[in-house]
Amino acid sequence: MIRNGNLFCGLLACAMAFTSAWAGEPISTQLSPSPGITEPDLIPGLLKRVAEANLRKWVDYLAKDPLPFRKANYTVPGHAQNSLDETDAWIETQLRSWGYQVERQLCEVRAYGCDLKKPKHHTYAQPPPDAPVYRVCNLYTKKTGRRRPNEIILLLAHKDSQSWNDSPGAYDNAVGTVAVMELARVLASYENERTIGFLWCNEEHTPWTSLTAANHFRQRGDNLVAIFNQDSLGGKSDDDIAAGRKTNVSLYTTPEGQQLADLMSQVNEVYQIGLLQSSCRRQQPGDDDGSFVKAGYGRAIANLGSFPYADAEYHLAGDVAERVDIVNVRMTTQATLAAVLHLDRAPE
Ligand SMILES: [Zn+2]
Repeated sequence: MIRNGNLFCGLLACAMAFTSAWAGEPISTQLSPSPGITEPDLIPGLLKRVAEANLRKWVDYLAKDPLPFRKANYTVPGHAQNSLDETDAWIETQLRSWGYQVERQLCEVRAYGCDLKKPKHHTYAQPPPDAPVYRVCNLYTKKTGRRRPNEIILLLAHKDSQSWNDSPGAYDNAVGTVAVMELARVLASYENERTIGFLWCNEEHTPWTSLTAANHFRQRGDNLVAIFNQDSLGGKSDDDIAAGRKTNVSLYTTPEGQQLADLMSQVNEVYQIGLLQSSCRRQQPGDDDGSFVKAGYGRAIANLGSFPYADAEYHLAGDVAERVDIVNVRMTTQATLAAVLHLDRAPE
């Protein structure tokens, strides 16, 4: 997550190529997110399948060992690929093992520059003129719905770590990366009515590759009926950590987005997930959900642990896997799953 990152967008045109088509057709519809719980309610059983052990193991993999970072401009000594390409290969392997086919969307980015005169959580800066261009990927997979396949519920997270310094990016955003993976794993055996899409993009390099993905969905006329951006789940202040609070804030930009934020609160209550759940309206589109809002998809929220974001190690070398409150990450993943399942099963 990069607050005020819009300042640095559009510095470089994003060249794309597709290894396979992202099929879809235009259709418009309205989903009603009011929680009329269908019977029998299979949601509690699915929520129990969210495995804290997976989340922990995968955060360690992506933010500690074997990958200390996930960035195009860092290669682990002795490895053949940079650490972001290694991240992509590993995520794809996991997804294939659960039966998913993965599509790659190629984009060109540069690493941010670093300006140590700026505030310590925001030292990213425009890349120097001679900064190399890297070819990076968005990863996308989907489960086509059996009844309303043209209505797409999209789960997304940025998978890269900070390109301008050596932060492991455990909260920002290994946690969102693994949350969307775990959602894909749990949903693999679920018979969905609507199409559920899963997107992993890059937002700590420039330009943000969620812009490319969002514009592509728009150009194709895809009907994205709900978008959940999972970023820095459970990241919170030292006071909240000391008090053991399990927090989530759902940020929305538009009135349709507020409906999704409200749904997060409702499922947290109905399914007794136990989050201290709140909502907040953004002043303007931001983060990767903002890329979709700008592309005309207003029913979008970001889930994050606090807002304004209060992690003391935000964007610093101390954003390490050991600090991650994995129980909080699991709870937010469950709340998101409940919201997705509710939307999927809504009659219209
Ligand atoms: Zn960030």
